[in-house]
Amino acid sequence: MRSWLKFARKFNPSSARGVAKPEIVTNRQIFLQHIGQTSEAPISLEISRAEGCKLYDVDGKEYIDLIGGISVCNTGHGNPKVIGAIEQQLHQYLHVMVNGELVLSPQTRYARLLTEHLPGSLNSVFFTASGTEATEGAMKLSKRFTGRTQIAAFNRSYHGSTQGSLSVMGSEYWRNAYRPLLPDILHLEYNSFESLEAITEKTACVIAEPIQAEAGVKVPGSSWMRALRDRCTQTGTLLVLDEIQTGFGRTGTLWAFEQFSIVPDILLLGKALGGGMPLGAFIADREIMQVLSHHPVLGHINTFGGHPVCCAAGAASLEFLLEERVVETVMGKQQKFLEGIDTRSVRDLRGRGLMMALELEDFPTNKKVIDALLADGVFTDWFLFAPECLRIVPPLTITEDEIAQACQIINRNLKKVLG
Ligand code: PMP
Repeated sequence: MRSWLKFARKFNPSSARGVAKPEIVTNRQIFLQHIGQTSEAPISLEISRAEGCKLYDVDGKEYIDLIGGISVCNTGHGNPKVIGAIEQQLHQYLHVMVNGELVLSPQTRYARLLTEHLPGSLNSVFFTASGTEATEGAMKLSKRFTGRTQIAAFNRSYHGSTQGSLSVMGSEYWRNAYRPLLPDILHLEYNSFESLEAITEKTACVIAEPIQAEAGVKVPGSSWMRALRDRCTQTGTLLVLDEIQTGFGRTGTLWAFEQFSIVPDILLLGKALGGGMPLGAFIADREIMQVLSHHPVLGHINTFGGHPVCCAAGAASLEFLLEERVVETVMGKQQKFLEGIDTRSVRDLRGRGLMMALELEDFPTNKKVIDALLADGVFTDWFLFAPECLRIVPPLTITEDEIAQACQIINRNLKKVLG
C-alpha cells in the first residue's frame, strides 16, 4: 500500500473501512488546526461582513471597528469607490508579468497621484507587496546609494517582521530569538537629542517613524525631529521615514512628516496605501532610486509589488480621501473621542488624530477591558510595545454618532472592569 494511503487510513480509520463518517468541523476548528498560528490565544472571531466602520460576525453581531485593520481601512470597509475600481481592474487584467518590466496604467496613475501630493524630491515610487518589503528595499537602497553599511533605528519602533526589518526593530525581546540578524545596526533612544550624536559619516540611513505607533502612540518633539533631519543632512545619512501606519491622513495631515516641517530622503508607505489590498512602497528622488537599476541590475525585484488591482484600489482610496476632504475631519473626530471617554480611572489618553492610545495600569487590566468591549460590540486590541495601552485607530470615515456610541461602550466597560 502506498505510504500516504496508509498514513491517511491511520489518521482517519473510518476511511479504511470505506465508511464516510460525518464530521462536524467548524471554521474555527479548521482555523486552529490548519492555519499557522501567531499566538497561543487568537481572538478567533469569525467575520462574515464589514461595512463602513462596522464588522459583523457569523451570528450577525455588530462591532464598531476601532482597529481599522491596524491603520489599513482609512476609507472604511467596502468603500464603493474602492470596490468599483477593483471591479473595473479585475476585468482588464490581474497579474501579467513580474513587477518593473511592463507599463501598467494602474501603477503609473497611482505613482503620479502620490507624487503630486508629496514634496518634489519624493518623485520615484518603488512598489512592493508589503510594508516590511518597503523597509527592506529602503535599507538596500541606502546602502547602495551611500556605500555605507551602518543602519540606525530607534527603540520601540516597528518596521516589519522579515529578518532585515526585524534587525532594526526596537525591541530585544522580539529580535533575540532570531539571531544572527543583520550586522552594523544601531538602536538609539527616540526623542533624545543625545542619541543623535551616534549618527555619523558611517551611517547609511536612519529609519524612524514620525510618530511611534506600536510604542503606544508616542509623538516626538518637533525640534527633535528637525534635529534628526539636520544630523542626517550633516553626515550625509539618508533619513527614512516610516509612514506605513501614520500615512494617508491617520494623524490629521496627509503625511505625518508635514507636522514637523521636514522632508525625508526615503518615505515608506504600506497599509492604507492599498485601500484594503496588499501594497507597499518606498519613495525617493530618482537620483537615489536609479542605483537599483545597475551593478547589479535588478537591485530589488519582486513578483507582486504594485499589483494592478492593488494599485487601482489604492489610487481610488487616496482619491476618495482627497475628494471627500476626509483628512480635514480627523482632528475634530479625535476631539470627540477625547471629550467622550471618561479618563478618571485610566492613566492616560493620548494620540495624534485618529491614532490614539488609552493607557491602563497593565496588560492584564487592558486585556480584561478589550475582552469586555468585544463582548459589548467594540473591536479593539493592544499595541506591540505597549501592551497596557488600548488601541483606538478606527477608519477615518467613522461618524460622530459611531464615535459617541463607541465612547459610551468604552465608558460602560471601563467602569465594569475598573470599578
Ligand atoms: N512599519 C510600521 C510602522 C508598521 O506599523 C508595520 C505593520 N504593522 C510595518 C512597517 C510592516 O508592514 P507589513 O505588516 O505590511 O509588513
